[in-house]
Amino acid sequence: MDRGVVVPELGRTSVEEIEVAEPGPQDVVVRIEASGVCHSDLHVLETGWAHPLPVVLGHEGAGVVEEAGSEVDALAPGDRVVLGWRAPCGRCAWCRRGDYRRCRTPAVAGPAPRLADGQELSTTLRLGTFATRVVVHQGAAVRVPDEIPLEQACLVGCAVATGVGSVLETAKVWEGARVGVIGCGAVGLSVVQGARIAGAAEIYALDLDERKLAAAERFGATQTGPGDRLDFVFDVVGRPETVQQGVSMLGHAGTLVYIGLPQPGSEVVLSLERLFDRRVRILVSHGGDHVPAEDFPRLLQLALDGRLDLAGMVTKTIALEDVDRAFDELKAGDVIRSVIRL
Ligand SMILES: [Zn+2]
Ligand SMILES: [Zn+2]
Repeated sequence: MDRGVVVPELGRTSVEEIEVAEPGPQDVVVRIEASGVCHSDLHVLETGWAHPLPVVLGHEGAGVVEEAGSEVDALAPGDRVVLGWRAPCGRCAWCRRGDYRRCRTPAVAGPAPRLADGQELSTTLRLGTFATRVVVHQGAAVRVPDEIPLEQACLVGCAVATGVGSVLETAKVWEGARVGVIGCGAVGLSVVQGARIAGAAEIYALDLDERKLAAAERFGATQTGPGDRLDFVFDVVGRPETVQQGVSMLGHAGTLVYIGLPQPGSEVVLSLERLFDRRVRILVSHGGDHVPAEDFPRLLQLALDGRLDLAGMVTKTIALEDVDRAFDELKAGDVIRSVIRL
C-alpha cells in the first residue's frame, strides 16, 4: 500500500494509506523520492484553492519511473524524472495556435488515487507528490541527469521553473536590465538567479525578513531595498500593497510580472495616470509559464554548468510525517525549502 499526505478538511493534514490507479496508455507510474514543500501546498491546505477535498498535497516532486503505459516511448522503468504541473494539453485554443505557454487547461492528469476505503482523491496541481507513488501523464515527467540528486532536481518542478521561467520566458529580461524582486523565498531567489543568468545589470531584492535578503545577496542580488525606475519588477508575494509598490518602482515602459498567489477576494487600486504616462506593462506568470519538456532540460543543464544553484536552495530534508512542521517553518521564513525524502 502507498502512503500520502492528505487534507481531509481545510487546515488539517493526515498521512493516509492510498491506492494509486492503474496507468493509462499515456501515463507513467513514478516512485517519488523527493518533494519540495511549496507555498502553493500551504495555499491548498488553508483555502483548498479549487481542489475538491480530500486532496493529496505536493507538486514539486522527483522520482524514478516504475512502470510506463503502452504508448509511452520517451520514458522507461528506471528513469530518474522530475515532474511538472503545467504540461500543455495540446487541445485548447491557445495550444492549437502554438502558444503552449499560455495553455488554458494544462490538465494532463493521470488517473486519480483513492483512499483505502475507495474514496477518490484530488491531487494538488494534478500531481500530488507528497506520496510514495504517483501516476502522471508522460508529458509531466522529464528525465534528470545522473549527476543531479533528486532532492535538488525536484525544485526545478516548481520554484525554479516559476522564478527562472518568469524571468527568461514570461518577461524576457534582457542583458543589462535593472530588475527588482519583491519576496525572497524559494521562488523569489529563483527570480534573482534567473535575472543573474539573463545578465541583468542590477538586481534589487525586497523582503521584510533580513535572513531572506542575505540569501538573495548570496544568489546574486546586487542591492537590497526598493529600486527606482526599474525595467522589471517581479511580485512574488501577490498582495495589493506589493503590486502597488512594484508598479511604483518601475521606470519608462517598465514591466510588472505578477507571480504570487492572490488571497481570495483581494483587489488593488492603481493610478491610471501613472500606468499611462509610464506605459507600464503588467504580465501574469503561472509557474513561469513553463513547458516541462522544453524548459526542464535547459534548467537542469544550467545546474550542471554551475550557473544555477539548486543545492543552496535545499535547507533541509525531512520525512513525510514532518510536513506540518515544514509548513510552520515556511510560514516563519526559517527555511528556503524543506524537501521531503521518501
Ligand atoms: Zn492547452
Ligand atoms: Zn509550487
